[in-house]
Amino acid sequence: MGPSPGGTEQVLSPYLVHPDELTQLVGAGEPAFRGRQLREWLYSNPVLHTRDMTNLPIGLRRALADRLWPFEVEQHQVADRRATYKWLFRMPDGAAIEAVAMGYGRRTTLCVSSQAGCALACTFCATGQFGFERHLQAGEILAQLAYANAFLRSRPLRSAPPKVTNVVFMGMGEPLANYPRLREAIRLMVEEVGMSARSLTVSTVGVVPGIRRLADDPWPVKLAVSLHASDDDLRSRLVPLNRRYPLAEVEKAAAYFFRKKRRRISLEWTMIRDVNDDLSQAEGLAAIARRLRAHVNLIALNPTPLSADRPSTSEVIRRFAATLRSRGVNVTVRDTRGTQIDAACGQLRVEGSSGKGEGPARRRVLKLTR
Ligand code: SAH
Repeated sequence: MGPSPGGTEQVLSPYLVHPDELTQLVGAGEPAFRGRQLREWLYSNPVLHTRDMTNLPIGLRRALADRLWPFEVEQHQVADRRATYKWLFRMPDGAAIEAVAMGYGRRTTLCVSSQAGCALACTFCATGQFGFERHLQAGEILAQLAYANAFLRSRPLRSAPPKVTNVVFMGMGEPLANYPRLREAIRLMVEEVGMSARSLTVSTVGVVPGIRRLADDPWPVKLAVSLHASDDDLRSRLVPLNRRYPLAEVEKAAAYFFRKKRRRISLEWTMIRDVNDDLSQAEGLAAIARRLRAHVNLIALNPTPLSADRPSTSEVIRRFAATLRSRGVNVTVRDTRGTQIDAACGQLRVEGSSGKGEGPARRRVLKLTR
């Protein structure tokens, strides 16, 4: 159930879901500039609690105290000696998502979810193993950023900027399968929060029409394509969506994106032992990367509950990377963050949530306000 497309039937959620609703949220008796003030507290000068919104009347601060965010924060975890945070957010309908913040010196990168669960069922990804729950609304995607910024301001990650400098759509879900809301979330991140579109990365497993729409939209965002295999046989086994959009089409769409945006694409490759880490896969990948002039990111597989797959050894990863480099391809071996708290790539899922909508689990671990 999405929101109704506006008009008289629209019922205002008790939670903030879109900045345009803020004016309604502050109520009929309030002057119009209150909406703008609230927006500033949420997006430009973020605070976690309404009590710190010093230019709002006390009564309004109290009335909004429980309605500031479109979710409850069920869990906050810290890892990598305070270089990584993970939050578990629970929406009023019971759907749950996760977001991960990572400090890298001059950058603070936030990995956001675009859907609760995922329908694409990539075999090695925990989110895919647990099925699809629902699309996130634009405001729910935006709120992950707004909340992280408010939080980081008071508790920054170790030696990293106290606000998000980069956003990657690499959390739960397939962003390009939720296109209109992803698009609106990007617009809001740029126009409300003031992010540079160049610091936003959309990661896709190869939703071809989505790649083309993103290429035609105005923002110079970055594109990451999760490839994992360089032939259709293997790729269709790992990434079922490949049967619908085979490699050649994904490559064509990526080339179109590169032509339109002139922004270097990255190809993501999860290194799975004895599955996609041999020489012929490396050669196939090198050929694709060269044609696209793309950068390759190799990520050792992180363990997931429903798969027996194991990561490639570091020796094999080193050799795979060397093969790519010897063919003129730029390669980075990505470090793994947050494995102890299941916050690493492909590990996001919500424990206890089957994704089948068994009704709201309203465990309240941390109450946000008061
Ligand atoms: N659906 C999008 C966004 C999720 S991004 C996409 O697939 O691109 C998640 C990234 O982590 C992708 O590059 C994905 O391939 C990778 N990934 C998934 N499962 C993983 C695992 N178990 N170990 C390491 N990386 C994984």
